[in-house]
Amino acid sequence: MAQTLMIYNGTTDETADEPRTGGIPLVPADFSWPHCDTCEGAMKFLAHLPVEQGVVSVFQCENDPGLCEEWEAFEGGNRAFLFPREGLVPAAVPAEGDTLLGAVSAIKLETVDEDTYNDAREQYRLRSGRGRLVLGSLGGEADWLYEDQWPACPGCGQLMTFVGHLEEGNENATAANFGGGCGYVLVCDPCRSAAFLTQS
Ligand SMILES: [Zn+2]
Ligand SMILES: [Zn+2]
Repeated sequence: MAQTLMIYNGTTDETADEPRTGGIPLVPADFSWPHCDTCEGAMKFLAHLPVEQGVVSVFQCENDPGLCEEWEAFEGGNRAFLFPREGLVPAAVPAEGDTLLGAVSAIKLETVDEDTYNDAREQYRLRSGRGRLVLGSLGGEADWLYEDQWPACPGCGQLMTFVGHLEEGNENATAANFGGGCGYVLVCDPCRSAAFLTQS
């Protein structure tokens, strides 16, 4: 099955309603910016990802890297939201905390004919010579770095549906911190919920 890679495509507007990492999240009007359960700091907004089920918005605490269980789903160190596609507005960014990435990165989608995400990323790297331009993928199947790690939806208890991989970024200065690993984005469509976790 072909993989749909997300490829770094320069910069874009900080509130663009298109796949991007960084910038300002687009959120429902009653949204409150997520804070970390462990350090209580404001989380960092990582990605705006339009998917079939809506828009997934991904946040992770980077105030105390490695100390806030930010790699686990539902442990309070990260948050992902599944918003409706319409009616979103730019969020009010908290004044304190490590809240925004250092760059807004536009994403173009590119299909690569490989059976797994890691093979597709490798093929892109060999072809382009620039593997870090791959910012993740949308759709397809989860390609776990280690053991399968499907989170159960807190609403209904069912295992959540995979919607995409997320990489740290194309350059160290502006990248997210997944401990050198890869992020996994999942949703539960009936409950309108989302999850994020990383493996490294
Ligand atoms: Zn924290
Ligand atoms: Zn559910």
